[in-house]
Amino acid sequence: MNIDSIKNGIVIDHIKAKKGMEIYKALNLGELDCSVAIITNAKSKKMGRKDIIKIDKKIDLDLDILGYLDSNITINIIQNNERVEKYHVELPKEIVNIAKCKNPRCITSSENELQQIFILTDKEKKIYRCKYCETMKEE
Ligand code: ZN
Repeated sequence: MNIDSIKNGIVIDHIKAKKGMEIYKALNLGELDCSVAIITNAKSKKMGRKDIIKIDKKIDLDLDILGYLDSNITINIIQNNERVEKYHVELPKEIVNIAKCKNPRCITSSENELQQIFILTDKEKKIYRCKYCETMKEE
């Protein structure tokens, strides 16, 4: 794969510098059977430095996880060497089984089969609260 361009695939852009590997792991990109390139510390007019991930294949990305990890990320869809689509990820309204409720009396700590669900209650401050007991999620 050419590092600069991919023919058909996805470019995950505007990742916070040095966070590319975290995103790579969270999305299980190591499991893919296609080329994946992580560019760290690329120059960015907007951000100073940023990371970029290029995936040489169109895959279904988990946008909720991306939005949760870094809501500044942009996704570019590449088709025949051209960008055909660009969009921003958003903070997910609900996150499921990513974080655990810290309240020891929460029903999720005794009922293990329950899903850990947090609801976005404040978009500006990025605050999530447990769906069952409303305890704030730890950072
Ligand atoms: Zn809870």
